[in-house]
Amino acid sequence: MTTFTLMKEGNMMEKRFYVTTPIYYVNDKPHIGHAYTTVACDVLARYWRMKGYDVKFLTGTDEHGQKIQTSAAANGETPQQLVDRVHKTFSDLCDILNASNDDFIRTTEERHIRVVQDIFSRLMKQGDIYKGTYTGYYCVPCETYVPENAMGENHTCPDCGRPLTLMEEESYFFRASKYVPELIEHYEEHMRGVMPKSRYNEIMSFLKSGVHDQSVSRTSLKWGIPVPGDEKHVIYVWFDALVNYISALGGLETDEFKKWWPNVHHVVGKDIIRFHCVTWPLVLIALGVDLPEEIFAHGWWTVDGEKMSKTKGNVVDPVKIINEYGLDAFRYFLLREVSFGNDGDFSERALVNRMNSDLANDLGNLLHRTLQMIETYRHGIVPICECGSELSDVLPTLMAMYDESMSDYRFDEVLRIVWDYVGRCNKYIDETMPWVLVKDINQQANLDYVLSSLYESIRYTALLIAPFMPDTARKIWYQLGAPGDPVTTKFDDFKWGTCEGNRPNKAEILFPRIDVKAWKKAKEAQKLAAEKKAKNEPDHEPEITIEAFGAVEMRVAEITSCEEIPRSKKLYKLEVNLGYEKRTVCSGIKAFFTPDELIGKRVILVTNLKPAKLCGVDSNGMILAASVKKDGISEQLTLIKPEGDIPLGSRVS
Ligand SMILES: [Zn+2]
Repeated sequence: MTTFTLMKEGNMMEKRFYVTTPIYYVNDKPHIGHAYTTVACDVLARYWRMKGYDVKFLTGTDEHGQKIQTSAAANGETPQQLVDRVHKTFSDLCDILNASNDDFIRTTEERHIRVVQDIFSRLMKQGDIYKGTYTGYYCVPCETYVPENAMGENHTCPDCGRPLTLMEEESYFFRASKYVPELIEHYEEHMRGVMPKSRYNEIMSFLKSGVHDQSVSRTSLKWGIPVPGDEKHVIYVWFDALVNYISALGGLETDEFKKWWPNVHHVVGKDIIRFHCVTWPLVLIALGVDLPEEIFAHGWWTVDGEKMSKTKGNVVDPVKIINEYGLDAFRYFLLREVSFGNDGDFSERALVNRMNSDLANDLGNLLHRTLQMIETYRHGIVPICECGSELSDVLPTLMAMYDESMSDYRFDEVLRIVWDYVGRCNKYIDETMPWVLVKDINQQANLDYVLSSLYESIRYTALLIAPFMPDTARKIWYQLGAPGDPVTTKFDDFKWGTCEGNRPNKAEILFPRIDVKAWKKAKEAQKLAAEKKAKNEPDHEPEITIEAFGAVEMRVAEITSCEEIPRSKKLYKLEVNLGYEKRTVCSGIKAFFTPDELIGKRVILVTNLKPAKLCGVDSNGMILAASVKKDGISEQLTLIKPEGDIPLGSRVS
């Protein structure tokens, strides 16, 4: 363990930071939990890059196991087809989230399979993986054996509540028990090995209660990595998955591995800490590999106070939220609303509140007011920059606090520190009152100083928020007319007071204020429409009076000719005869009739509809039809025809 500490310090001096999300299981649809982990890791990666560290950010997908084999069979596709199709939703989500990951690993890739088999073979060779028989209660959906003391009533799974199956199978076992004392000793010396403290305590008490050797192979399924030399077995999906952190480096013998290990920072959800903080380190100890520097477990999200579940239908789709409110607002909210490590509650209402108060009001106004004043008072040119101001004096302390909180994964605290500063800057405007200074001939130098100070403080603020909201940081620098890119600027390279003569671009709204009243109304309407849709109820129009109905003039007409409109896939150009006059009407019924089926047919025509030009043809009226629509498109359609004999032009009422 002494060598471990020395090596770790040696590596630390090289300033490297290897950060990982868990690899996401592809039998799942991406939800807010996945987005949360990815965004948090992205913030870390961006921050450490801006601190001048060499950073590697890894994410990916876990693609083996029983559930995938079962789902694929149910879909009538091969497991490979399923994972090829679904893994994309996760890699797409990375792009949507603007994640700056350097790699995306899939466990079905050859580079991964090779390393898993290599590590498995090493452990077999040294006697740390051995063959035995496993008997136990097994939950098929959760792919896990459940120990007797953890079972629910009547032998049910404590996680999913389904009945367990008593299974006996030949299995390979990892000699986990042998290395437990060493792991306990390690964690006693390295409190940051498991974070936050509550999880550390949980893991320590679990380790001290004793850990059994762990089954690491299965014979009950095919969809996995074969055990080297014993193809009847596939490697247990969790063992397979954990190795991704090394396989993405090319294996144990590579320069990449030597470069990044053990400056490793695993970020995981609290539900999978036993695999990450017990199984994984025990495997690493057995391999003679140093342990990750930090493993941080974050909490879970509830939605409007309730647990997320498919049956409740309240699973938050991050893509939908981003489309509605914007990516940076979403990223900001996730990390500002809840202390990383605690559970949190997601609600759109809380998101809207944060957007209005923190983003539109505090940050947006500061930028807007400052740019307006530079525009109005100084012809849009940043005046001479005095070095230092009360807004710059606080920055060293602020940055120290920022760094400390970031090192401790206290993202909400980091953002609070930044917003305190934004608040300070807004107050500075109120205190210095530039609109008063501008009128006093003796205060012009002072006004220059105030405006430059504000400008520089905003330029610096953009840097501080860049790990969280990279697009916004860029927008701010663009509006400031500041050269360079805040996203790739190092914190240490920022020089206060280099802005004289900069010409800001036109001030634009960073975050629009959301009108809460209108928003609430729209949400209620959305909810109602969704409920109707769920119940398959048709959309109804509001009630009208008999007079309003009477204003629609409808008459019996006969179709006398029908032509195609070359530019249109849907429309026919029809001539209709009303008896007293003839009309041209365009009608979107091409998909349902041939011209022959229409000519000579009697229909009902709305005659007082305002004429319109459709695909270059003047249409003067509308033919009535009944249709079944799906997503706004008619799937089935029939014309309304008068029965029996009645003169053309007869009024319908
Ligand atoms: Zn289960």
